[in-house]
Amino acid sequence: MIRCIRCGKVHEKGSEDYFSIHGNIYIGDHGGVVGNNFPTFAREIITKGVVSMTYFCLGCFRSEVDGWIEMVELNKRTGNR
Ligand SMILES: [Zn+2]
Repeated sequence: MIRCIRCGKVHEKGSEDYFSIHGNIYIGDHGGVVGNNFPTFAREIITKGVVSMTYFCLGCFRSEVDGWIEMVELNKRTGNR
């Protein structure tokens, strides 16, 4: 069972109704991973569930990303970093 972290909706595991994020997403050059960027040796660890997974509905993911982009743009305009 897959539960969206944003709205709580439940999705069937293995369906294409959600996004899975392995680890974290960062802004800029500070590292971070979206999707399938782990080296082969690390994938075994990920499969064992050591790296936390975050799930979003398709629409919730879009809203979340829009929010992140707005935050970055606002910070740029206001000089906050
Ligand atoms: Zn959702």
